[in-house]
Amino acid sequence: MKQDIRKTTPAQLKDWLTQQGEQGFRAKQVHEWLWKKSARSFEQMTNLSLPTRDLLNAHFDIRPLTVAEEQRSNDGTIKSSFRLFDGNLVEGVLIPALRNDEHGDRMTACVSSQVGCSLTCKFCATGYMDRKRNLDAAEIYDQVVAIDRQAKENYDAPLSNIVYMGMGEPLLNYKNVLESVDRITSPDGLGMSPKRITVSTAGIAKMIRQLGDDAVKFNLALSLHAANDQKRDQIMPINESNTLDVLGDALGYFYKKTGTRITFEYILFYNFNDTLQDAQELWKFTKRVPAKINIIEYNPIAEANFKNTDPQTLDKFAGFLENKGVTVNVRRSRGKDIDAACGQLAGKK
Ligand code: SF4
Repeated sequence: MKQDIRKTTPAQLKDWLTQQGEQGFRAKQVHEWLWKKSARSFEQMTNLSLPTRDLLNAHFDIRPLTVAEEQRSNDGTIKSSFRLFDGNLVEGVLIPALRNDEHGDRMTACVSSQVGCSLTCKFCATGYMDRKRNLDAAEIYDQVVAIDRQAKENYDAPLSNIVYMGMGEPLLNYKNVLESVDRITSPDGLGMSPKRITVSTAGIAKMIRQLGDDAVKFNLALSLHAANDQKRDQIMPINESNTLDVLGDALGYFYKKTGTRITFEYILFYNFNDTLQDAQELWKFTKRVPAKINIIEYNPIAEANFKNTDPQTLDKFAGFLENKGVTVNVRRSRGKDIDAACGQLAGKK
């Protein structure tokens, strides 16, 4: 089987090319084609000689990610099903800002980091699938490239933001996720600012500390959804081994090392975590580390019985936190009609 060329570093490729009697600087050209120009065949690398292209073709392949299906929501959201080289499917979403939206011309890509997920969050469709494998850095990068192309073709604007909030737990695919961020932010890749990237975790304390040690520059979001262990255990079993106290410590450590404010994602489930007592607990938890809160609208899934809270309860909940001086954004869900909203990605058609 041929080797995946995007798993070689420029230094490794340079060594290999030199051993084959080629000039070493060709490695830089090849990498530029692979990442910056997203070439998907050696034939496209027109500044290489034909024999060099043939040589590369004989030893390496470029594993493509292709768009298997695109679905468009009434609100402009586009959900894509991406086919990986081994036939597995993952999903990614383009979320354009609504006209008159507070975020103006924001174009956000939501990308997947794993095929399926090993965590079993009860409100999430992906949580009812098995985790098949991690995505490699190129597979994550390719989703961004494909969604960026959709943004330009459909809205005449490039991506402005990327969230790792699709299928999978990014911090359980740590190395590849960080490598994909490096590629996206590198001037040899897409050259995006890390401040435009948010990695969202269900809460893996050890890896949150590792992000601090690695002094990452991107944003971190915690899918919190309950600020009391007994409730959080019920909806997110990962909480049993990564309790709120342990997570709070890890987030404090991350903040100390990076100076980056945390985002807490909080879905208000009807009659579960939407009382003023819950808001009080959430407020207490946010005092542990500088943070803002995104309250997210819930999108019911067939596998579970949760319901979205009502607008009056939401207003009271958000108002309580705002009165305490907490920054709160209420996020309306997008792409619900095509199962592209948060927690709904599960390869459904
Ligand atoms: S919410 Fe995230 S971590 Fe939890 S099951 Fe879904 S994809 Fe996995």
